Amino acid sequence: MQTDIISQQGTRQQFDVIVIGSGIAALSYILELTQLNPNLKIALLTKITLVDSNTYYAQGGIAAVFNAEDTVNQHVKDTLQAGDGLCNQQAVNAILEQGRASIEFLQNNGVLFDRSESGELSRGREAGHSERRIYHCGDQTGAFIASALISQIKKQKAVTIFEQYTAINLITNDLQHQPGSVTEVVGLYALANVTGLIHTFLANVVVLATGGAGKVYRYTTNPDVATGDGVAMAYRAGARVGNMEFYQFHPTLLYHPKINNFLISEALRGEGAYLRLANTGERFMQRYAPQAMELATRDIVARAIFSEIEQSDYDFVCLDIRHKDKQFLQQRFPIIYQTLLNLGLDLSKDLIPVVPAAHYLCGGVLTDTSGRTDLARLYAIGEVAFTGLHGANRLASNSLLEGIVMGRNAAQASREWVTKKLQLQNNIQDWKTTSVIDTRRSIQINAHWRGLRGEMSAYAGIIRTEAGLQDLLRLVSLRRNMIEKYYWDHLITRDLIELRNISLVAELIVKSALRRHESRGNHFREDYPQAETQPEVSLARASHLIGDNHYEYEQFYNINLHT
Ligand SMILES: Cc1cc2nc3c(=O)[nH]c(=O)nc-3n(C[C@H](O)[C@H](O)[C@H](O)COP(=O)(O)OP(=O)(O)OC[C@H]3O[C@@H](n4cnc5c(N)ncnc54)[C@H](O)[C@@H]3O)c2cc1C
Repeated sequence: MQTDIISQQGTRQQFDVIVIGSGIAALSYILELTQLNPNLKIALLTKITLVDSNTYYAQGGIAAVFNAEDTVNQHVKDTLQAGDGLCNQQAVNAILEQGRASIEFLQNNGVLFDRSESGELSRGREAGHSERRIYHCGDQTGAFIASALISQIKKQKAVTIFEQYTAINLITNDLQHQPGSVTEVVGLYALANVTGLIHTFLANVVVLATGGAGKVYRYTTNPDVATGDGVAMAYRAGARVGNMEFYQFHPTLLYHPKINNFLISEALRGEGAYLRLANTGERFMQRYAPQAMELATRDIVARAIFSEIEQSDYDFVCLDIRHKDKQFLQQRFPIIYQTLLNLGLDLSKDLIPVVPAAHYLCGGVLTDTSGRTDLARLYAIGEVAFTGLHGANRLASNSLLEGIVMGRNAAQASREWVTKKLQLQNNIQDWKTTSVIDTRRSIQINAHWRGLRGEMSAYAGIIRTEAGLQDLLRLVSLRRNMIEKYYWDHLITRDLIELRNISLVAELIVKSALRRHESRGNHFREDYPQAETQPEVSLARASHLIGDNHYEYEQFYNINLHT
């Protein structure tokens, strides 16, 4: 056993704006802001490299109305239908109206979408969409978008890029949280992963663009960076978070011992793939959605697969697109085709084993469509934010669009704040605590990763009950207390920051799921199978005045944010 004591205190830097994250929301924000004001000092912090994001892995495409046969109204209708009564219609309209402008924004920044032989933009179809309106770059849309936007960002002199930096906590100027006072966010602490030093970053505006939290669950389509850090940071600073019980599960993650987060895009079902039982080969979707079948919304398909797996001796079901032409499959799904082939599976000949997996966080930090939060100078954009666009269930491919729209809107909304100098009302401290290095304890604490994720999948996954959630709450709270205690005097590492955050996000999900006595969208309670007639959003705030945390239901987005 090795125990040492060290200081992790780093340096202090000041910027006009600090953006945490390098996905579509962060990149869109920075590109828009530098257009508005090229003379700013902007920092972009990202946890690993610029391409480590959910954005980079997006396959299917981006939903937008760009074609005369389609209408924004129809897109709105499809989105509301998927959202199952919990969408904020104002937000839906405001975001979907900007579909065309967003595609143009991407094109202007160098994204080349697929075109048909006649030269028109190709339009894919995905579940829940009544029209073909998914614009794509093969099955690597996210990678093309991320690469194009990153190369634009790298040209911006105003932007300093910090890769391998993990944001830990927001710094506020109102540590006492006095009644009636407005909390201002004035910066953050971030760990330099490589040196282990914790630096102080101060800024006039902080933008959270930290993406989702798929790693809260055992199976996820998300890359390793998706640990809900933004939600946890904002919550700890006193911002409201909402609708955390609505985690969308993607029905078809590849089930394979060699790869643990490879998504088989919904576009396969859009192009006609069937779902079959692993043992008999029977198609089963007619028992769950006789009309939409495999193109039913994700919650319905994921629950159907989950139920079938529960009733069978197999841990997976199969996707079958063998009836399509091999050349078509190779052309339309080049990466999926090749990745599977490398694993010995030929999409044109073999059944593909799949399981449902945590995919998208519909809730998050409460914001408007410009990313304003409860806290002054703090914006949250993209998947970390909860605007109400997705309601209880996200319509496929609406999230890349939301990232662009929010990024660009937030740039407009924050343009005055970014030059307003901070009134520092307290003495901001640099990171002072000393850290104990204890190798045996760090191995033990890391064991919580596996335990927590497994428990979340078993009790707060696709099918939930009161008894299961109550048991889970005890388990998660116990783990969270242990992790929190360890955190305060041990060496801060990226692993520890993430573990602390997933345990908090897990607790928020469980508490929100316990309070919702109904089934709606992605939240299915076996003991409350019906939807309530008066749907409400659930909100949680870590209240420093009234105890640990505070939950409330709010009737439909009647919500005041900081302006
Ligand atoms: C496999 C897959 C396929 C998908 N397919 C589609 C699709 O076809 N269409 C669609 O619309 N949506 C799709 N989605 C969803 C979509 O990709 C995401 O919702 C969207 O990209 C989120 O963008 P974002 O900018 O909010 O966050 P992200 O792209 O996830 O970026 C978050 C960034 O924050 C960084 N970060 C996180 N925490 C910290 C921290 N503490 N410190 C520093 N940096 C931090 C991360 O490293 C990352 O750079 C898919 C998602 C996945 C996982």
